Amino acid sequence: MKTVRTRFAPSPTGFLHVGGIRTALFAWLVARQNHGKFILRFEDTDKKREVEGARQHLIDSLKQLGLDYDEGPDVGGPFAPYTQSERLDSYKQWAQKLIDSGRAYADPYSAEEVQAFREQAQAAKQPFLYRNHRPEQPPAWDGSQPLRFKSDPKPYKWHDEVMGDLHSGPEVIDDFILIKSDGYPTYNFAHIIDDAEMEVSHIMRGQEFLASIPNYLNLYEALGLEPPVMATMPHILGPDGKKKLSKRDGAKDVLDYIRDGYLPDALVSFIATLGWNDGTEQEVFSRQELLDKFSLSRVQKSGAHFDERRLLWVNGHFIRELSLDELYKKVADYWPPEAQDHDDAYKKQALGLVQERLKYFAELPELTGFFFTDLPVNAELISGHKQLKKLAAADLKAWLEQTKTSLADSDFSAVDLGKRLNELLEQTGQKPAVLFSLIRIATTQSPASPGLAETLAILGKERSLRRLDVQLSALAD
Ligand code: GLU
Repeated sequence: MKTVRTRFAPSPTGFLHVGGIRTALFAWLVARQNHGKFILRFEDTDKKREVEGARQHLIDSLKQLGLDYDEGPDVGGPFAPYTQSERLDSYKQWAQKLIDSGRAYADPYSAEEVQAFREQAQAAKQPFLYRNHRPEQPPAWDGSQPLRFKSDPKPYKWHDEVMGDLHSGPEVIDDFILIKSDGYPTYNFAHIIDDAEMEVSHIMRGQEFLASIPNYLNLYEALGLEPPVMATMPHILGPDGKKKLSKRDGAKDVLDYIRDGYLPDALVSFIATLGWNDGTEQEVFSRQELLDKFSLSRVQKSGAHFDERRLLWVNGHFIRELSLDELYKKVADYWPPEAQDHDDAYKKQALGLVQERLKYFAELPELTGFFFTDLPVNAELISGHKQLKKLAAADLKAWLEQTKTSLADSDFSAVDLGKRLNELLEQTGQKPAVLFSLIRIATTQSPASPGLAETLAILGKERSLRRLDVQLSALAD
């Protein structure tokens, strides 16, 4: 059997968004499942669209996600170079073969003339086909004109690992450009040569290329090459399921997610399930589970929904699976500045309490700030509270006084605090939604916190009583 060789072939035209990296992940999974090779190739033949820094960015994104490649521009390999602009001689040689066999010719028309043909076709409500204008006696190709493929229109039937059995008629086959007048090949030509020379066995790519596949099949034939296995990925749609994913829907740079404290394993699990499932209800997958279970035949044909809320949920799931020690190491750079005056034990306790709710590391300051600093009294927390706002300040004060008295005698263990808080409910005749909200606001100045007794236990007696006093005097004003 042929060795499985897959490739990720991005153009260095911008950052890699979470949806865009799915192709890389699926190609990586297929290579690793089959003990094959995964290749990175830069497709940089459209110099106008190139973005500075994009190459390093693509490399960093793959590295961060743990999608290691065996061959590529920065690591070399048996078929180097892995950058298209460094392979121009190859394309020229293959182009020459096509010229010699009468399957490629110089395009003698100016851009304006080709445009005029296109407009004629539009006016006649006909699809534009260049081959209808194929010159009878094209000039010799000197590199200054585009080089075109002399196609052989015919119907095709082929199998796509995702889209199933497909077919097309001769009307979609045309004389497309192989080499542009700037000397660079088109994607349509270059990727076929590279995949053949690099012995790629499987091509995974986006749906935008589906309509061109009959033309590729025609060119493979002319070149005497066997086409690789093809797998066309469904579109990734925004959360409404209608439009293609846009930046506004969360098509964020994958490195931004990493910087915000998303775990690579969570991103990989989330990306894998954009259009794939294992046939059960399972929603999160470890890397090993993906290696065991992934198959192209279970990738769906219809568009996949990108929902950033689901990504948050998946990341929270992976965060909860970490041991406290592991999590503590990973969040080292995310603490609020005030935390630096506190020791590891205190920070770890605070982290242990918020682990349950933490969805990404950059949220840490917001969730833990009150552990490290006395936040100023925020009157709106009471005046905007559904229940508390209806109550008289005198009552709130009386309950806070009772709380103070009881807590003053506590050893501040979570167990003792829990007991006292329950007694306070009885003493005041209030529900937790009222009394505990009030105490929580007074001691944290935050609308939400982890379990109240546990929070107070970590804050300790001195801090808790001091904050109750501050809240009391604010209510007196
Ligand atoms: N360079 C193409 C792109 O970035 C890659 C398509 C392919 O994988 O063949 O869209």
